[in-house]
Amino acid sequence: MDPELQKAGSYLQTLQLSAYRGRGIDPPPPNPVPLAQQFAESREALKDGGAVERTLAEEGGDPLVRARILADMRVALDQYIAATAVAAVEAAHAAAPSPYIEPRHALILQSMRQRVESLGRAAPDLTGRLAEVTGRVLLSTLPTGELNAVSVRARDLPFYLILFDPIFFDILDSFSEFYARAIDGEAALKAAYEYGHSGVDPDLTRVMRGEDRLVVGNCMMALQAFFFRGVPPQRYVPRRAQSEQFATFLRETAGLFVIAHEYGHVLLRHPDPQGAPPNQSRVDKEFAADRIACGIVMAYGESVRSPRDMRFMGTHFFLVAVLLIAAVRRTLETGVACRIADMIATQAPRPEDTHPATSLRLAVINHWLEQTYPPALYRGTQYYAALFIELADRLLLCVQPALLKQAAGRKLVAGWYETRPRIEQDV
Ligand SMILES: [Zn+2]
Repeated sequence: MDPELQKAGSYLQTLQLSAYRGRGIDPPPPNPVPLAQQFAESREALKDGGAVERTLAEEGGDPLVRARILADMRVALDQYIAATAVAAVEAAHAAAPSPYIEPRHALILQSMRQRVESLGRAAPDLTGRLAEVTGRVLLSTLPTGELNAVSVRARDLPFYLILFDPIFFDILDSFSEFYARAIDGEAALKAAYEYGHSGVDPDLTRVMRGEDRLVVGNCMMALQAFFFRGVPPQRYVPRRAQSEQFATFLRETAGLFVIAHEYGHVLLRHPDPQGAPPNQSRVDKEFAADRIACGIVMAYGESVRSPRDMRFMGTHFFLVAVLLIAAVRRTLETGVACRIADMIATQAPRPEDTHPATSLRLAVINHWLEQTYPPALYRGTQYYAALFIELADRLLLCVQPALLKQAAGRKLVAGWYETRPRIEQDV
């Protein structure tokens, strides 16, 4: 193995161990329990009279509800096992630049990296620059405290690290699940096309499924886990089979945008001490990285021939998910219910944020789209953005009263979303 690559791997591991230590949490075990054994243990815990049933019984409550929770968890576990490519997950973990990563995250990152680095002819203006960094970017996870990723230059080495907060994948997984459940994907495609071509303001509720009570329930569960316990949302939530394709599309394209943004920083050499032009502000760097990200998302769509108005769906979905979380945080901090539009109007940057206010990023990306796309297709992309925001607002209306009630007299946990120690040179 290339000795410099090995050194970059050690640097990454040192960063991870100190970040986990700093937060007082254990890193993912470097030698994880084989998946087959994990699955067997989960099945054992969920069987009649098993650990989960006993814990639920200790918590008390309606026996019918408890039976329902147990049944749901069993269905979800079966779905999760069926959807897991065991050999690929374990191979990705073995090949990862650091063993301190959850194996399923290693597989997601491996395939994301391949997607970006193999764009080739689909991204003619980026090909040369991508070729320069191919093999020089290591992807892994680091508890940064943000629903995001950061890029870092490995000290004194020609390598860059792109590091996602491990919770990123769980949050997007859960949000994409209830978003896809709430939206009739086929109807939304038609409505986006119609709006694109007519410009007549659409009734966004037409494509929402009002009847699925689990949309609100799953959103509520994710936010409770996140704000009151500081943990990722429960993974064992049953999926709606018909929505899974749409959910997968949302979470994969959202992840693609975030990784493309970080590659933008790398291609612009922002993590290098002398990389960026002097006097370029942090916010300008972020917008420059977002514009490169848009080019990468576009090129990826070209390479898989996805419809142009759908290519930025994941980008908008990700930014709205960040706004939804910010709106809930503000609601819990101030005791006053707030909507996404309030966040867009008044979201002030916090000193610890690595990325500028989400609403500004939204504006920069929409500006890029407006300049790049013909008007009808541009309006199509804006249909999805408006739909995601409208849905976020409807969910906020449903969950805020209960969240506020639960938060009364309770201190929010110092979860992953709080301030974080800064890493040298991160962007
Ligand atoms: Zn950035």
